[in-house]
Amino acid sequence: MTKTAKAALNSAMISQRARPEILAMGGYVSARSIENSTTGTIFLDANECAFEPFVGAHNLSRYLEQQPVALQDAICRWLDVSSRHITITRGADEAIDCLVRAFCVPGRDNIVICPPTFAMYAQSATLQNAEVREARLDNKFDLDIKLINQTTDKNTKIIFACSPNNPTANLMTRERILQLCADYADTALIVVDETYVEFADSESVIPCLDAHANLVVLRTLSKSHAAAGLRCGVAVARSDVTGLLQKVLAPYPLAQPVVDAALTILSAPSQAVLAAKRRDIVARRKEVVAALAACPDIVELLPSDANYLLVRVKDAADLCNKCRNSGIILRNQSHQPGLKNSVRVSIGSHEDMQAFIAVVKGETQEPRADQRVGTVIRKTNETAISVRVNLDAVAPVRIHTGIGFYDHMLDQIAKHGGFSVEIECDGDLHIDAHHSVEDCAIALGQAIRQALGDKRGIGRYGFFLPMDESQVKVALDFGGRFYLDFKADFPESHVGDLPTDMVPHVFYSLAENLQANLHIAVTGENTHHMVEACFKGFGRALRQAIRRDGDEMPSTKGSL
Ligand SMILES: *Cc1c(COP(=O)(O)O)cnc(C)c1O
Repeated sequence: MTKTAKAALNSAMISQRARPEILAMGGYVSARSIENSTTGTIFLDANECAFEPFVGAHNLSRYLEQQPVALQDAICRWLDVSSRHITITRGADEAIDCLVRAFCVPGRDNIVICPPTFAMYAQSATLQNAEVREARLDNKFDLDIKLINQTTDKNTKIIFACSPNNPTANLMTRERILQLCADYADTALIVVDETYVEFADSESVIPCLDAHANLVVLRTLSKSHAAAGLRCGVAVARSDVTGLLQKVLAPYPLAQPVVDAALTILSAPSQAVLAAKRRDIVARRKEVVAALAACPDIVELLPSDANYLLVRVKDAADLCNKCRNSGIILRNQSHQPGLKNSVRVSIGSHEDMQAFIAVVKGETQEPRADQRVGTVIRKTNETAISVRVNLDAVAPVRIHTGIGFYDHMLDQIAKHGGFSVEIECDGDLHIDAHHSVEDCAIALGQAIRQALGDKRGIGRYGFFLPMDESQVKVALDFGGRFYLDFKADFPESHVGDLPTDMVPHVFYSLAENLQANLHIAVTGENTHHMVEACFKGFGRALRQAIRRDGDEMPSTKGSL
């Protein structure tokens, strides 16, 4: 190709529509530019320390490349693209922001969004003082090409298409996306946000990059790879656009722990596990749709190609409130055009969805009359605790004591006991764990006792449980008299953040407040196993003891 032919091609390139000052600037030369990293062995160029900040730290002392090569390679394998075509960002959100900053001249240029849609496009444009123009989706929530064409002008730099769209959950028609690419080939970027495409029965438009130089595709690990907290996304574009994005992107956007975790996520074994989990989510989405379809308050369930549902209901604010009262948070989308009384619901775990469906069906506001529920609110100068148990429901189980290991142990009681436990504790942990641990056990014991009521129909019970080298024996009787026999010799003073001398205290408080006779004997070598075995064994013994089997009083005395 001759020099002039090349220049002509260049000037026709969409990247020439970027802000002139971005085109003109050189971009920051970071300490870890490719040449430096590949030729150097001793790095005295960036005022870094030559040692790691703590034992076990992995590569924290040095600046990373803006686009770490190992992560580039992994993403290229994931998306089947060349590294020239990708820009790795702190989530897709940052990619959106970089696109707007690279292309929109403040106060002059505009972007086009297709509402109802994801809010960040307008957010980034407003921050850049770029006008936000709206071309509503059509009545099937698909791209309305005619309306888009009426909305754009010579200063339109980016048209955002979200597919599957958030919040309507449907894919945009591929032909319409490609039509836009063709219509705006020399004038505007067509940014296709494919955050949820892994949940859809459809291929990415990334391969269309070969035919369309103005196409940009956004992907992220946040939703499809269960890593919203990681902040790792990618913009896929032709190399001229990639170059511009990397000029406006911060010099060191990706932290080493992020890179390490992203590499693990993108490794073949993790990818296989995550793909299977996505299939579970899609299957669960179908179950939820089936369950909700039968609910009178549901007006319409929009078909979903994503890991969430958009649900039209009779009264969106009312449903959100009801759910909130049961601790379930939804996203009311009623403010969006065309989405009156619409609520967006993510597909969570099986238990989460059971809890949600129960609220929609009006089942959880009041426990059923035959369910044994206990509620205790306990406030002292040291702790404020609320406990709710339902011995005849398995969910929800939500435990927040502020002591991680103790949460894990109380969770064992709920899981192995087979009943719903909710505990919130705000305690004086700045002093130590003692008050919180003990007071939670007291309140939990009281709540279970309250739920048991007159104990009609329950069993009585014991349990043996091995856990690796440890073994626990638990015997429990709700006979109405308190006695604790606790035999343990824990080798360590703590497991996690839980002091082991608090473990007998916990069972003392539980037994006392349950008015139960409780014998626990544990042997073993590993403190974690021993402690966990106690809680699991207690849960199992409880499961037997609280189970109702008929209506008899389990005592010849006639009461317990
Ligand atoms: C959640 C979401 C994003 C944000 O992704 P991050 O990678 O977490 O920044 C982008 N686009 C859509 C449509 C989303 O729903």
